[in-house]
Amino acid sequence: MIPYKRVLLKLSGESLMGEKQYGIDEKKLSEYAAQIKDVVKLGVQISIVIGGGNIFRGLSGASKGFDRVKGDQMGMLATCINGLALCSELQSMGIKARLLTAIRMEPIGEFFSKDKALESMQKGEVVIFSGGTGCPYFTTDTGSSLRGIEIEADAMLKGTRVDGIYTADPEIDPKAVKFDDITYDEIYTRGLKVMDLTATTMCKENNLPIVVFDMDTPGNLLKVLKGEKIGTYVHN
Ligand code: UDP
Repeated sequence: MIPYKRVLLKLSGESLMGEKQYGIDEKKLSEYAAQIKDVVKLGVQISIVIGGGNIFRGLSGASKGFDRVKGDQMGMLATCINGLALCSELQSMGIKARLLTAIRMEPIGEFFSKDKALESMQKGEVVIFSGGTGCPYFTTDTGSSLRGIEIEADAMLKGTRVDGIYTADPEIDPKAVKFDDITYDEIYTRGLKVMDLTATTMCKENNLPIVVFDMDTPGNLLKVLKGEKIGTYVHN
């Protein structure tokens, strides 16, 4: 039994860098695409939100003197570059994939609509949402919460470099302990930096569970979708 019929996978732009300092690592891109391909074969409807931090972040642009809104627009464009890369990698592996953008930019991608997204997913296509929410001052985590809620996903799967949520950053604190599951409220009270508060609140208010897991270990995405207890499950 597969516990999920439709999911929203969030991949950060930074994770696409792999070993590099900037941009897209082709090896990492193809590893991710291969994991996604295995899930498509299971018959799970999958859509993806991809970040842009490997190319540009509005906040760091603003700290260097860029106008914040323009910086965020550059960040949103960066997510479209990553979306195109993933779309093309999936297609080269024989997977049908479609890029939908939060801001009109045909012919790069079609303008997002819930109906288009569902129609594609129901046909077995992978849908990639790029451009975040389309608005400055948001992040792609919030874009994922929004799209996940809109498409009525059963869960948001947040693929990261660590294997779940810990009491502290395990890359810094060796005593950090991992949670198998946690509530949104506990994330607030413990001040855990899982996602930004806007994204977490949207998931909480709309009852969209999140699975935080290590996407850098090949096979993990499939394990999550088969219901294996890896990562951390976030719920109300
Ligand atoms: N961004 C935005 N609105 C959105 C989503 C993203 O303005 O709805 C901009 C913002 O500048 C952000 C950048 O796009 O820094 C890249 O997104 P994010 O930082 O979420 O990417 P990730 O950390 O996942 O790589």
